[in-house]
Amino acid sequence: MMLREFETKGEKVFLIRNLIEVRIPKRHYEKLAKKYSKEYIISYAEPKRILHHVTKRELVYVTRESGIPLLGHAAFGLIDRGTNLIQVRPITGCNLNCVFCSVDEGRKSRTRVTDYIVEPDYLVEEFEKVAGFKGDGVEAHIDGQGEPTLYPYMDELLEGLRKVKEVRVISMQTNGVLLSEEKIERWEKYLDRINLSISTLDERKAEFIYGCRYPLKRVIEIAKAIAESKIDLLIAPVWLPGVNDEDMEKLIEFALEIGAGKRWPPIGIQKYIPYKFGRKPKVDVMSFREFYERLRRLEEEYGVKLILRPEDFGIEKRPRIPHPIKKGDVLKARIVANGRVKGEKIVVVKGRVVTVLTDKKVGEFVKFEIVRDHDGIFLAKEL
Ligand code: SF4
Repeated sequence: MMLREFETKGEKVFLIRNLIEVRIPKRHYEKLAKKYSKEYIISYAEPKRILHHVTKRELVYVTRESGIPLLGHAAFGLIDRGTNLIQVRPITGCNLNCVFCSVDEGRKSRTRVTDYIVEPDYLVEEFEKVAGFKGDGVEAHIDGQGEPTLYPYMDELLEGLRKVKEVRVISMQTNGVLLSEEKIERWEKYLDRINLSISTLDERKAEFIYGCRYPLKRVIEIAKAIAESKIDLLIAPVWLPGVNDEDMEKLIEFALEIGAGKRWPPIGIQKYIPYKFGRKPKVDVMSFREFYERLRRLEEEYGVKLILRPEDFGIEKRPRIPHPIKKGDVLKARIVANGRVKGEKIVVVKGRVVTVLTDKKVGEFVKFEIVRDHDGIFLAKEL
């Protein structure tokens, strides 16, 4: 259903496409309802709160009219890391709580305070500009700080990306829980590859790894359905030493058995890396040397390529979209939205989003210095 509605003690709630909660104070809604249609009230009522239905965090709706650009932030929009692959990030928030999550996502997150969703037409139009700059043979890789299949406009996004003439490949990173046979059938004409993150084939371990009840049998069925479809499948486990060591062999066997990797490698094992703002399970952290050594042994045993390079996916270097701001720049701008974690705010300068570390509020002006430009993702400190 596209629109559902219900009431809490103090609020009238509209749930759009099972994801966007528009919450209006009940008394205020009752007054408006005498004069206006529901659609009008949902769009224009003030005050109102907009929440992500899964995480229950504030949800910032990024549209062209919002004035928020799609370059400059790691959590939403587009990321150009100087290759022919463009990361497309339509939504944040996740339905799982993986113990290794590098961005501390899901309902159990202790650090994320804001979610973002990007309007699909805006995302496609801006993508087209970046793809045009890059030239032919672009891969649109849909991923995110969260689970992309929560995006309620995925059909529109896929259709739009497929029409961009420079696009050669469309791929998606997903935990697979929300996929279905119908979606796979529907997306076959747009999607070339799904990177499916399965890190264990053991039910008990799965609950620990995913931090919640996890439908392992269902995800296994989904993996098989993808492998049988026109979409290629890459199984993408995270190796947690001491937790899922034996699973790596089982997952290689599983990937080969079901026919993953028709055009690209069947499995891409990732090393667990602890991140500053990520979740950190109590496990040993393998050195890269040890990790590659173990992969090499598994490669010999199974005769499958496990040490993967960008070339294995057709990724090549391409000029970057020029950065109009640089480290050391001192600027002033109005805060347009809350940041992803507490103490961060978002401003807009020279067509880019900049995350500023400040306690000022949305609507206030802040003076800041750019302290980091990493792949066109800008961080600044208040002066
Ligand atoms: S690792 Fe991925 S699937 Fe797991 S909680 Fe984080 S965003 Fe969600």
